[in-house]
Amino acid sequence: MKILQMHCDFIEYTPVKKEIRTAEGIDPKTVREEDIVVLFTAFEQGDDSELVKNAVRETKDFLGKLGTLRVLIYPFAHLSQSLASPSEALGLLLEMEKEAKASGLEVHRAPFGWTKALQVKVKGHPLAEMSRSYSHGEGAPRAALPRQKRELSVEAAMARIKRSDFVNLPETDHRVIGERLDLFSFQEVSPGMVYWHDKGLKVRNILIDYLRSELKKQGYQEVSTPTLANTALWMVSGHSEHYKDNMFLTSLGDEELGMKPMNCPSTFLVYKSRKWSFRELPVRYATFDPLYRNELSGVASGLFRVKSLMQDDAHIIATEDQAEGELSKMLDLMERVYGVFGLQYKAKISTRPDDSMGSDEEWERATDTLIRVVKSRGWKYEVKEKEGNFYSPKIDVDIRDSLGREWQCGTFQLDLQMPKRFRLAYTGSDGKEHVPVVLHRTILGSLERFMGVMLEHYRGVLPIWLSPVQARVIPLSDEHLKYAQEVLTSLTEGGVRAEGDFASGTMGAKIRDAQLLKVPYMLVVGKKEEDSRTVAVRSRGGEQAFGVKVSDFVSQVSADDAAFR
Ligand SMILES: [Zn+2]
Repeated sequence: MKILQMHCDFIEYTPVKKEIRTAEGIDPKTVREEDIVVLFTAFEQGDDSELVKNAVRETKDFLGKLGTLRVLIYPFAHLSQSLASPSEALGLLLEMEKEAKASGLEVHRAPFGWTKALQVKVKGHPLAEMSRSYSHGEGAPRAALPRQKRELSVEAAMARIKRSDFVNLPETDHRVIGERLDLFSFQEVSPGMVYWHDKGLKVRNILIDYLRSELKKQGYQEVSTPTLANTALWMVSGHSEHYKDNMFLTSLGDEELGMKPMNCPSTFLVYKSRKWSFRELPVRYATFDPLYRNELSGVASGLFRVKSLMQDDAHIIATEDQAEGELSKMLDLMERVYGVFGLQYKAKISTRPDDSMGSDEEWERATDTLIRVVKSRGWKYEVKEKEGNFYSPKIDVDIRDSLGREWQCGTFQLDLQMPKRFRLAYTGSDGKEHVPVVLHRTILGSLERFMGVMLEHYRGVLPIWLSPVQARVIPLSDEHLKYAQEVLTSLTEGGVRAEGDFASGTMGAKIRDAQLLKVPYMLVVGKKEEDSRTVAVRSRGGEQAFGVKVSDFVSQVSADDAAFR
């Protein structure tokens, strides 16, 4: 079952023509609904009541987050290439309607089997557009692949390869900024995944380098683990049971493999590869690996919600006595990092969800520790009942950006379950084996999302230390090309991220180009500069300085780079 979910200001549709013989008999009049969540739904081969129930349950949860109970179920066959038969689909549709009503939603439904004229106005918030997929894992997607292979000619396949377009977006939207600054693109063949261009990857790497320098000071080790692991790993971690719908599965011979949605389980295997003494704890593992999550995602979410993401993730394996101190250290680091971006923040504590492992006593102990740590910092906090992970309670930290929007970013978890499941151990001072605790934490969260937020937070004008190109060298004319190239070499050798605009074109146009790209400095070189071996520096703010030695400029940029740390 495929669902495209849209939170709409309004939807208006008119049944125009019966598409199939068994179309529902209805009065084909125009229907308009305002402020409603529309579920464009396609039922597929192999769908059944259980999937319908799952979909309704998730919809209900999701509508809770959006703060509405109004939903329109809209049959929409175009979402799938392996549709259920019309009679099956209609049966499931009616079941979905009934189930949704029984769950307390205010349910509307569009007729089945009709071609409809349609108008929608989708709300602009990040969760407004989502797509979801439900299946019993084996059947639907695998059956679809060979058929698609047979049917598609290379030409038809080629036609499906195109860049995702975002139309009618405001200039301040991170997708518009990303396109203008040539940071990244989205391609229709990789739904919900980012194609990083050189400049966007530079920004992401700068963030990672900055975090690495902080982690080094705190004695972290960095590890990297495979994307794929046998489902055995996900069974032990509980992901197979509690997170299955969000995992991408594949196979290798008879083995079923899952793409890692989180780094924890495989990090534990690194820990388990040797014995540890209490004297060596805590062990702090940091990881920057790609993760894959079949999350609710929509093309319109851009970087805010992607299926492939990277977190600034870490797992600290410690004795329970050390947990509080380690948590404090993490929050210190978090405050320092958020400070660099000038971000305000606030904490929430998420408690045990219904679908979870472990005993009440353990959950209470872990939750109390989190509350103690937050209180000791004098922070106000909000309690989010039942919003913890299936294995631990957590401190979630929301940042507030320059537009006053709040984003959940940092997460800090005290986990007493995974260590038991994975039989993690250390030898205590008594010579016996003990079970450690695990602290999971991420500060920026998904780097993709964080970058999206930052692009909007800074309105595309990234600070100098985060700018993918810090300086652009512009020769006044071709006569000065050689000197301009020398300047460029000195800059890059000095560690400045620089590029040259050596194409033909007027000075005015080149300055405008650089300004559009928000390049912090333009270095103009003409005869005067060449003779005196200097550059004329023009900042993106409009200030100018003449006769600047290249080495002085390099020192200035390095000082700017260093200042934020
Ligand atoms: Zn983790």
